[in-house]
Order: sequence, then C-alpha cells, then structure tokens
Amino acid sequence: MTPYFPELAPADVVIVGAGVVGTAIARTLARYALDVVLVDAASDVGTGTSKANTAILHTGFDAKPGTLESRLLTRGSALLRAYAAAAGIPVERTGALLVAWTPEQAAALPSIEQNARRNGYLGVRPVGVNSLYSREPRLGPGALGALEIPDESIICPWTTPLAFATEAVGAGVSLRLGVRVTGVTAAGDLHELATTRGVLRGRWVVNAAGLGSDAVDRMFGGGGFTIRPRRGELIVFDKLARPLLRSILLPVPTARTKGVLVAPTVYGNVLLGPTAEDVSEVGDTATTAPGLRSLLAAGRRILPALAEEEVTSAYAGLRAATEHADYQVYAEPGRRYACAGGIRSTGLSASLGIAEHVVAALADAGLSLRPRPGFAGSPPVMPYIGEACVRPYQDAKQIAADPAYGEIVCHCERVTRGEIRDALASPVPPADLGGLRRRTRAGNGRCQGFYCGAAVSRLLAGARVPDGASVS
Ligand SMILES: Cc1cc2nc3c(=O)[nH]c(=O)nc-3n(C[C@H](O)[C@H](O)[C@H](O)COP(=O)(O)OP(=O)(O)OC[C@H]3O[C@@H](n4cnc5c(N)ncnc54)[C@H](O)[C@@H]3O)c2cc1C
Repeated sequence: MTPYFPELAPADVVIVGAGVVGTAIARTLARYALDVVLVDAASDVGTGTSKANTAILHTGFDAKPGTLESRLLTRGSALLRAYAAAAGIPVERTGALLVAWTPEQAAALPSIEQNARRNGYLGVRPVGVNSLYSREPRLGPGALGALEIPDESIICPWTTPLAFATEAVGAGVSLRLGVRVTGVTAAGDLHELATTRGVLRGRWVVNAAGLGSDAVDRMFGGGGFTIRPRRGELIVFDKLARPLLRSILLPVPTARTKGVLVAPTVYGNVLLGPTAEDVSEVGDTATTAPGLRSLLAAGRRILPALAEEEVTSAYAGLRAATEHADYQVYAEPGRRYACAGGIRSTGLSASLGIAEHVVAALADAGLSLRPRPGFAGSPPVMPYIGEACVRPYQDAKQIAADPAYGEIVCHCERVTRGEIRDALASPVPPADLGGLRRRTRAGNGRCQGFYCGAAVSRLLAGARVPDGASVS
C-alpha cells in the first residue's frame, strides 16, 4: 500500500478517535519523546458521544466497587478537577442530592451510602426531608429523604476535549481530522492503517473509537465486545429556569441506568434527562416524541415549576454500552495495540484516569517512555465559556485593551466578535458552525442562532479565505 501521508514518518503511536478519551490519551502521551498521530473520522475533535452527554463531573460514588470503571473514575475525576482549574475549563461544584421518592428507594439509601464509601468516596451523607425541602424548596411533593454528594459537579463537556487536544497539538502531536480508519495490515514491526484518506503507518495503535471501538478492535483480531448503542435524550431549559434549583437532583439509580436527573449547566441553563433506550444504529441520535414526553413527565414530578419554563433545545447522545458491565480497556504487547473502548456513561469524568491507565499499560507492554525534551508540562489556558466567572463582555479592562471583546455578536449568549475571532485562530480551530458553538456558545441561546446566524456564518466564512486573512 502507498502511504497517503508522505510527510509523516511512521508514527510511534496512532490514536484512533479524538473524543474526550482519545484526546486525553494524546495529551498524556505528549509528554514523552514519541511521534504521536491522533486521527478522527469527523472534521473536529469531540464530536461523538463527548459532545452530547449530561456534563456531570462524577465523583464515582455510585460505581460498582472493584471494577476498573470505579478505579479510573475516582482517579480521573480528581485529575480532571485539578486540570480544569488550571486550564480554565468551566466547573461548578454544585453538589448533588440523590432523592428517594418511594419507600423502596428510601430503603436503598443506606446501601448507596455504603457503596460510595466502598468506592473511597467518604463525603456522602444522609439528608432528612425537612432539610431537603429547605435546600431545594421547588422540589416536587412526596420526597422521602435523600443523600447528599457534595463533590458532584457540573462541567463544560466541550472545552474538555478541546483543552486536551490543544495541549497535545502544542506539544507536537499530529492531529488528522476527516480520516476514518477502515482496516489494518501488518508490515514488519509496523501497522499499516487503511483510511479514507490513504495509508497511515504506526508502530503502536490505541483504539479510542467510542461507538466504533468494537469495529476497530475486530480489525486487530479482537472481537471480545460489541457496542450496543444506548440512546439518551435530553432537554435544555431556558436560563430563566436556573434559579429553580441549587444542586444536581439525582434519582435512585437502577441496574440499567443512572436515571433521569435535573441539573444546572455551566452555561446557566437547566438540563433534564437522559432517557435510556437501546437502538440499533450507531448514528441514531434523533430525539423522539415519546422520549421527550417521558422526560417532561419525570421533570414535572421532580421540579414541577420546570413545566412552566421555555425549552431552548433538545438533543440525544449514544452511550457506547456493551455486553460487559465494565470498560473494555487493555493493552496487548504481541499486537502492539491498546483498546480504550466501551466507555459507557462516565468517560468524560474518567478520561484522564483512563489515559493514565492506558499509557501505563503501553509502557508495561514495551512502549519506551522517555520524557520529551522541553515539554512545558502545564495545561493550556482555554477561553472561559461558563457563567460562574467573568466573561470578556463583562471585563472593562479586556474591552479597553481590545474593543472586539465589547462587540457582541450573539446576544442570547453574549458572545463577542473577539471571542469568535480567537476561536477561529486557535490551534484547533472549528470546521463549522457547530464547532464554533462548542468553542464560544455562539448560537446556543434561546433564539438558537436565528438572530446571529448570518453574522456568525460570515465570520466563519471570512476565516476560511485562502490567504489566511483574519476575521477582524
Ligand atoms: C446521554 C449520555 C449522558 C452522559 N453523561 C455523562 C456525564 O454526565 N458524565 C460523564 O462523565 N460521562 C457521561 N457520559 C459518557 C461520556 O459522554 C462518554 O463516556 C465519553 O464521551 C466517551 O468518549 P469517547 O472518546 O470514548 O467516545 P467519543 O466521544 O464517541 O469519541 C470517539 C471518536 O472516535 C471516532 N471514530 C470512531 N470510529 C472511527 C474510525 N474507524 N476511524 C476514525 N475515527 C473513528 C468518532 O468520530 C469519535 O469522534 C454520557 C453519555 C451519554 C450518551
């Protein structure tokens, strides 16, 4: 086969999949003297399950003790909290209240508390009915008690993989987008990956292909798991709903799902969801009338006033569930291959723990890890797109220094021309309007881009001028 990527010598490691897991692995490998290539079939990073989830930074209190998921979630959650603080990824420690609505659920609370302790999470504590209603006065009637999990937090799921990718690219990782891996053949000590853009060669391959991780695993002779996509639909409520709650309101989970929750978002909205429905297509991210109806019914019970609020949007994400309860994460020295697949419903929180584990497994399997000379070792500082800290339009000093930060383009989300310009010139720039939304929030508000769509599109089109003219 003829290599399509002639400028690339065979890589030491090719990572397939640039979701939150693949980008976390790329930034973790970037500190070592290795040639790393990160490829994704999509035109941007973080466009798979990583862009459409519930955006909770879980503590891991409810994981199954003793599983790999429990271990990597506890570790990853701590790593991500520290990373987010350094990188400017929006995180709010709202805490969660896990509410019991039936006597059976109330009876389950002590065992959930015990389970949290077995997972090493000691912050959990029971909350009586009176205290529950004084903390969340808009909670629906009939709650029988709750557990408080003070460290459950909300996070920006879009800035997270972008920060990882930005750090990786800055340290020398080669990011190739629009490249789908379709097969593999062995060529001496190299893997030759057939892709939709030609052949890519690498000594080691890491499979972080999310919903495609079983297909990639089969290319390497695996076949130990099959992805069974489980769709989760969610509803985003207008910012006027935000004062209705303080904490994340969790249900008592079942064996199959964590259930429907109500949570604030770091952008100042309220999220209701997700559903849990097995679907046959890995691309089936449609929202459905029955799914949304069932969410509204659940929402009405948990927080009745929510029913009076405006809906801003609805979306669905697909969990990469498999026939196994645990993550499918392992390295195979003989095949110079590692798999980080089947990461069902906690991969955002666990991403840095998974990456640390995969890199250690690669080292054990024979990949030589020498520090990269001159590696800065500090996360990039990302543009802040949350509500809890000061945004550019609120910052008189920033506007005085650069008036583009005072020029609002998206009025619903108060996104300025300066922020859009910066995103378009960033090391991992957006490929389309969706990418610009995830980097700036432009078009994400209650008008969903009706008013700013044309202006934002013009700025995006201007950035694509071949001579590299900037948008300013
Ligand atoms: C409804 C829902 C709610 C969730 N809530 C939370 C939450 O609150 N907190 C939390 O921590 N987690 C949550 N999760 C889970 C979390 O979103 C996932 O575990 C995580 O995003 C998985 O990341 P990933 O990188 O493995 O997969 P993805 O983000 O799907 O990335 C995989 C990438 O691989 C690429 N790819 C696939 N096949 C190929 C190929 N052959 N060649 C090249 N590229 C390929 C895809 O294009 C994709 O970009 C939720 C998930 C869902 C669906």
